[in-house]
Amino acid sequence: MRPVAENVWQIDGFPPNAINAYLAGDVLIDAGTRWDRKRFVKLLADRRVALVALTHVHPDHQGAAHEVCTHFGCPLACHELDRAAMEGREPMHPRSRALRCSSWIWAGPPHPVARSIREGDEVGDFHVVEAPGHTPGHVIYFREFDRLAIVGDVLNHMNLITTVTGLHEPPRFFTHDQTENRRSIRKLAALRPAKVLFGHGPPLVESAELDAFIAAMPPD
Ligand SMILES: [Zn+2]
Ligand SMILES: [Zn+2]
Repeated sequence: MRPVAENVWQIDGFPPNAINAYLAGDVLIDAGTRWDRKRFVKLLADRRVALVALTHVHPDHQGAAHEVCTHFGCPLACHELDRAAMEGREPMHPRSRALRCSSWIWAGPPHPVARSIREGDEVGDFHVVEAPGHTPGHVIYFREFDRLAIVGDVLNHMNLITTVTGLHEPPRFFTHDQTENRRSIRKLAALRPAKVLFGHGPPLVESAELDAFIAAMPPD
């Protein structure tokens, strides 16, 4: 667990930065895969965890959510449109074979969502920015005072096959609606983030790189 911004720590595994979660104050944002369950509980043992808040419900973000919520006795939050998938009442989005396969390997058990979040809600020091597309209920967590954005899989900052650093749209076969996700990438850029923390890849501090990526992105 290493500090990446004021009062925010990155939790990853191996390879470094490949699958990230963040402890932001006493809020765990995202929760790795089900293989991370014991490790997360151990890593967080001397911390206070008051809430687990997800950027979106995918197997590499919700994996240890049930374990952490149960162990620390804290509630789980996600957007209403990803809630049924988190609670196991419907499959995750998109309904692709690739996502089904990765769910078998990585997904953690369902867990009740105590808090549905939406645009403008406060989660710790952050507020919720709806950023649908990758999943219907994908959100970004944005902190005004240092313009820090925790963006889940709206954008990847790593090639998921080679692990080389660089901005990429999330893979189409893991994405519910690519056009809608591109609107969310533009919405992220419009926030003028000073630092971006990703679900996959190291932090980005050079926003010119984000602007260049958007300029090269196909139009809607
Ligand atoms: Zn995802
Ligand atoms: Zn992911």
